[in-house]
Amino acid sequence: MGKSNKISWLLLRRLSEEIVKSHVDIHISTQMSNDVRGAIIKTQKGIEILLNAKWAKRAEDVYQTLAHELAHFKYPNIHSKEWDAEAKRILEYLKTKGGEQDEEE
Ligand SMILES: [Zn+2]
Repeated sequence: MGKSNKISWLLLRRLSEEIVKSHVDIHISTQMSNDVRGAIIKTQKGIEILLNAKWAKRAEDVYQTLAHELAHFKYPNIHSKEWDAEAKRILEYLKTKGGEQDEEE
């Protein structure tokens, strides 16, 4: 479990790539509507994850939104039971690994 509230973006990107086994880019956007926390977009290279700057302030918020969107990689569009289980699994993984190292800033 990450002790600090610091967000290690490059580490989170690497963990995301391990999860989806594809190239991942993370973008923070100020253009998204207030009620949207994130989005996932498939590209030729892999995926892009958009995070709403309004909701991407604390590490916990970022882990939750990333887990939500990464689970949509396997289960697009719907919030099914399978999607929910996948999102919870990913969230645990990000929380366990995401605050471990300070190597990457
Ligand atoms: Zn969703």
